[in-house]
Amino acid sequence: MTGFISPTRKLSKLVFNTANVPAFVALMVILAGAVFAENLNCKIYQQRARAELLHSTNLIASRIQGVVTSNIALVQGLASTIATEPDMDQQRFATLAKSLFQGDHQLDNIGGAPNLVMSLMYPVSRNREEIGFDLRTDPAQRAAALFARDTGKTVLAGPMKLNQGQEGFIARIPVFIPGSQGAQTFWGVLSSIISKDKIYSAVGLDGSGDIIFALHGKNASGPAGALFLGPEFSQHDKPVKVEIDLGVGSWELSALPKGGWQTTADNAWLIRLVAGLAALVVVIPFSIVGWLFRERSSLLGEHIRSRSCLARITERLELALETSQIGVWEFDVRENVLHWDPRMRELYGYSEDRIYGYTDWADRIHPRDRKKAIADFQDVLDGNKMYYSEYRVQMPNGRNKTIRTIGSATFDEHGVKSVLGVNWDISADVNQIELLSRAQKDAEHRYLELEIAKSSIESNSLHDFLTELPNRRYLDEKLQGRVDFEFKLDATIGLLKIDLDGFKEVNDSLGHAAGDAMLVHTANVLRGCVRKEEFIARIGGDEFVVVCKTAVDANRLEDLADDIIKQLKKPVDYQGRECQLGASIGIAHGASADGNADKLLSHADLALYKSKQDGKGCKTFYTGRLHQIEIDQRTLADDIMRGIENREFVPYFQGQFDARTHILCGAEALARWEHPKKGILPPSVFLDVAESLNVMGTIDAMILEKAIVELGIWRLKGLKIPRISVNVSPKRLGDKDLINHIKTLDFDPSSVTFELVESTFLDKSDAMVAWNIDQIRNMGMDIEIDDFGTAYASIVSLTQLLPTRLKIDRQLVSPTVGSKSRRELVQSIVDIGHSLDIGVVAEGVETMQHATVMRELGCDILQGFAFARPVSSQDFLRAQLPQQKLRNIFKTG
Ligand code: C2E
Ligand code: CA
Ligand code: CA
Repeated sequence: MTGFISPTRKLSKLVFNTANVPAFVALMVILAGAVFAENLNCKIYQQRARAELLHSTNLIASRIQGVVTSNIALVQGLASTIATEPDMDQQRFATLAKSLFQGDHQLDNIGGAPNLVMSLMYPVSRNREEIGFDLRTDPAQRAAALFARDTGKTVLAGPMKLNQGQEGFIARIPVFIPGSQGAQTFWGVLSSIISKDKIYSAVGLDGSGDIIFALHGKNASGPAGALFLGPEFSQHDKPVKVEIDLGVGSWELSALPKGGWQTTADNAWLIRLVAGLAALVVVIPFSIVGWLFRERSSLLGEHIRSRSCLARITERLELALETSQIGVWEFDVRENVLHWDPRMRELYGYSEDRIYGYTDWADRIHPRDRKKAIADFQDVLDGNKMYYSEYRVQMPNGRNKTIRTIGSATFDEHGVKSVLGVNWDISADVNQIELLSRAQKDAEHRYLELEIAKSSIESNSLHDFLTELPNRRYLDEKLQGRVDFEFKLDATIGLLKIDLDGFKEVNDSLGHAAGDAMLVHTANVLRGCVRKEEFIARIGGDEFVVVCKTAVDANRLEDLADDIIKQLKKPVDYQGRECQLGASIGIAHGASADGNADKLLSHADLALYKSKQDGKGCKTFYTGRLHQIEIDQRTLADDIMRGIENREFVPYFQGQFDARTHILCGAEALARWEHPKKGILPPSVFLDVAESLNVMGTIDAMILEKAIVELGIWRLKGLKIPRISVNVSPKRLGDKDLINHIKTLDFDPSSVTFELVESTFLDKSDAMVAWNIDQIRNMGMDIEIDDFGTAYASIVSLTQLLPTRLKIDRQLVSPTVGSKSRRELVQSIVDIGHSLDIGVVAEGVETMQHATVMRELGCDILQGFAFARPVSSQDFLRAQLPQQKLRNIFKTG
């Protein structure tokens, strides 16, 4: 575990490294010596400094003593003279004083006050106002004068502030006149001012120099007296003190060096230098010894470590050789001796532990590999450094194994050559490689199969599964030049778009299998008609395209189209039933399309549309005029959208009548377009385009809304009519919003019937359609199957839907008058309907003859021109209301 090592531990580790101990001890001794020497040196130094200071202080003190006492002595001299001349006048006084002032002194003035009144003065000029001053009037002066008189001693006061502004000392000397027999009479006081500054400068107390002085003993009161010069030293400062005896009292002079006592001696650096040198001299050899000692131990440690490391590596190598089953060998070239370890013997199938030779090895090698193996070994004997070989070895038990050998030439200290190497069994690897290569071959084979499958898928994605013709995608790719690079969409290209006629009928009446058979048949017919270089594709349900080159044969397009129409017109047999197909064809030239594939296709489409309009079974070439039709269609589309916006679509109503009584029993709402310019337009004008625009549902909704309003108006006006029917387009029936829309309308559901086209609801696969039909029924509206009999209706789905009524298509009704079989057909429809409790309506009842036939066949309701044409709401009301009223009159009458 590794943890944090504190710095002190690191240091102690470093210091107490055994090799460092002697050096450390020596260092400690030197350090201790150096500290001791320095201490001693410092003490001596301080004592010397103190002695020096004391000397200087004594000098100053004696100067002060000399100066002060000499000044006092001067004045005392004058006092003695006065004692002998008590009546001395001012003039005499001044003369004497002046002579005193001649010498060296620090006096400012001298005044004489006989009987304590100042009457003598020198010099007069500066002290004139003092003359006449009675000392007794000032308490301080008086006390001092009396003290001098009473003690008979000279008194030194000050320093103090004087009248003249400066500071000074005052010496007061009492003067007594000696009388007879030793008696004395007090004369007065002689006082003199000694200038403080003059004294200080005379003795050298001017603050200069390296020493700070202080004076205690104001008024000559001794060491305990007040401080009057310099700072107050503390005891801790250890100042030097000298008492000055002034004869009239004493002062104390104390002194300290400026900045206090120096703690280190000036020569301390010398001692340190010596100690440092001593340390170096002692520690360096010790350190070197220590370092050498350490080196020695580390080398020793390394030696021990490498020995154990060698042992470990040897152990590992042995283990590795053991587990890897590698054998080690050495061939002594000079002696022709092969040293084999036990593993080598095992590899070559020898058991005895003896000396082996070259032939023992060579004998075991598989005869097929021997020549090469020996040659490989010869190379290393001939001087190659490295040796590498692989060969099979035949074991005594007949088994083969594959050996890999690696070796290299070595020389001993005498230059004798041997080859040292290893062998191991690689049979398992060889087997594995063989297996792998077999697996790889397998994989390659499978990859090839996949490639084939892939290309077949690709081909499927470009081909129609049923007819195996190229599909719409292939056609597009070809026209874009993406699959067939030589193909050029230019003026030499022609395109036929073929649409089967009658295909829907076959599909509806005979089922999808029949439809499929017709498509395959068509594909075969087309294959038979086209030339090799022409391209056929099936691009949609019953739509085919043929792409031709027209360069060689100008009539090719026309001839081909005619041929196709002719061939497809022939009846086809499907499971014993005859199917009648036909083909409508639209043809477009590459020249009309400027190399644009979409344009070419849409031109062919337009031409095809024209063929269909012209009654099918024919061909049409695309021309500019057709382009005009296209433009018209687009204009119509715009117009329809505008018409929807303006709600121009209105319901016209065609009455429905009871087959037996011919009484009005309902009305079918039929869409009409109230065009602002073209007048009333029938569905044939707009139905297809509206369907293609996906707006037929919107128109249906509009018709329903308006029809409900009209029904309300009729009822208000008194017309009794049980219900109206509206048409619901297939799109609308699959609309998820249909029910929601119906719910927004306010009407009686039982008064509205939804007419659904047969083919729509048969498509039960559409969940939305199924749900909508359920919802309509649940709301209570009737459901009627429109155009019944035209589509491939299944009775089963009829039973599932169970409409209220079915409406036999006009095409079935028309022929009934002249054809018995058609009557029978209608009869069977009526029978089926009635058996399921479904009412039957006949539409397209054009004549009263039809009406009679239909009634006889069992139809319940009749609708057709024989009774009424589709008319506007007002016209409907105008026509039906009077008839109803008339009938009612007859009934009641
Ligand atoms: P449909 O639903 O079969 O409507 C009956 C059509 O037959 C009406 O044509 C009507 O005028 C016509 N007709 C009625 N009696 C006779 C007759 O005795 N002889 C002949 N020859 N014809 C008769 P219309 O109004 O031109 O409608 C044509 C078709 O347009 C309708 O056929 C219907 O499929 C569709 N249609 C009309 N209005 C709407 C509508 O509002 N919505 C939807 N989705 N389709 C509508
Ligand atoms: Ca209808
Ligand atoms: Ca119909």
